[in-house]
Amino acid sequence: MPLSLAVWEQRAKSMSIETRAFINGQYTAAVSGETFNCISPIDGRLLGKVVSCDLADAELAVGNARATFESGVWSHLAPIKRKEVMIRFADLIQTHGEELALLETLDMGKPIGDSLSVDIPGASRAIRWNGEAIDKIYDEVAATSHDQLGLITREPIGVVAAIVPWNFPLLMTCWKLGPALASGNSVILKPSEKSPLTALRLAQLAIEAGIPAGVFNVLPGFGHTAGKALALHMDVDTLVFTGSTRIAKQLMIYAGESNMKRVWLEAGGKSPNIVFADAPDLQAAAEAAASAIAFNQGEVCTAGSRLLVEHSIKDKFLPLVVEALKAWKPGNPLDPATNVGALVDTQHLSSVLGYIQTGQAEGAKLVAGGKRTLEETGGVYVEPTIFDGVSNTMKIAREEIFGPVLSVIAFDDVEEAVHIANDSVYGLAAAVWTSNLSRAHRVAKALRAGSVWINQYDGGDMTAPFGGFKQSGNGRDKSLHAFDKYTELKATWIKL
Ligand code: NAD
Ligand code: MN
Repeated sequence: MPLSLAVWEQRAKSMSIETRAFINGQYTAAVSGETFNCISPIDGRLLGKVVSCDLADAELAVGNARATFESGVWSHLAPIKRKEVMIRFADLIQTHGEELALLETLDMGKPIGDSLSVDIPGASRAIRWNGEAIDKIYDEVAATSHDQLGLITREPIGVVAAIVPWNFPLLMTCWKLGPALASGNSVILKPSEKSPLTALRLAQLAIEAGIPAGVFNVLPGFGHTAGKALALHMDVDTLVFTGSTRIAKQLMIYAGESNMKRVWLEAGGKSPNIVFADAPDLQAAAEAAASAIAFNQGEVCTAGSRLLVEHSIKDKFLPLVVEALKAWKPGNPLDPATNVGALVDTQHLSSVLGYIQTGQAEGAKLVAGGKRTLEETGGVYVEPTIFDGVSNTMKIAREEIFGPVLSVIAFDDVEEAVHIANDSVYGLAAAVWTSNLSRAHRVAKALRAGSVWINQYDGGDMTAPFGGFKQSGNGRDKSLHAFDKYTELKATWIKL
């Protein structure tokens, strides 16, 4: 039995919320003493005043992280020992799952059911998977001449700064923390100013698990203060980021202006979901199209925001999608029955509503939703929305809206479908629905996207890399490939 709305409300009222930064194993105020308000988008309630870090705090955190790294207390620990700690850490995330889920939902508005079934278990799995992997990864011996021994080894890179977004706050954090910590680095995490709470709680759990003080630090604050200070820091070795393409580009500039730190970017998307007339099951495709734009309020990097439909089935298929979307209704995120929660804040709401206006002004046809809703709650909700008759040149087809707004675009043949799909600055994900095996493979190969799904939307787990082509980013999270971001490759030549 899921806990009831009343129980979650009661817990929300009685819980104490950690709002301080975490540096060198201690919760602390900012050097400046500054804080910012953390407001829940559920109903506008004030959750707390969160410490607002800046340059001085970044200096402290980087200094401690460097000293801890060099001490070897974590970086020199045998992989099997780091593994044991990581697994304890994963267990603690799981045993504190309800508390973390509640914090996540209060802070950024996603349905509690999703926090419990997607975010928290996914975060725990990411820590566990990387912990389990780390004592099973071997280095290499080069194919040298007889009198030489060439060792090819991976070393932790040192001090890692991780800057993450608000749509899956704990999950994106753990996709980075898993390989970063497992490979022996010290980490400074800058959570989004829109969702700092789970990261702050996580820091204490890391200490409880046995991760030494100074190895995992959390600096809450704004992008242009705490984030920029880390990105420009001369003693941060690697900057890993998930967030928008605009900020991703800025981080590359910061790296060039400072110490040429490595910069690994997981950025935005405008993913095409391509439905051919021979899709094996149009009803299943319609339900997937609805969930691809409504799940997590459409605040998903891989949201299926461009629905490409073969002309010959459009009149049959679109009504199925409109019908399927009716099952996705905004409601109180603390109600376990809710499947669409609140948008993260009023600023983001204005942006999403602005795009809906733009779509209408551009001549697209609104066939579902389009309005703010549940305003009487004091919260931030918008109806899942569909535009038909969209051309791929319209702004609503080109820009990432990051809300539940679907653009439906018709096409005539395979070539046109692939052309429209690839006609985007983004290349994060794509889906193809067809019964024709060879067409599925041909289209999958032609799509310029980091993940391609056939006859499904949004498959994947820890075993496969996740990331983008083009301006959706570089590098990959998840799978063993993610270790590339957190290690340096060394060649050692021994004369025999
Ligand atoms: P954002 O780029 O606005 O912010 C991301 C992070 O960067 C935040 O912590 C923010 O404080 C920080 N930041 C902002 N300005 C900065 C600066 N000048 N210097 C340093 N840090 C700065 O993105 P968002 O609104 O938080 O998240 C939504 C975006 O994230 C969408 O574009 C979405 O597609 C993307 N995303 C991508 C993936 C992926 O894996 N590719 C996953 C989730 C989200
Ligand atoms: Mn918040």
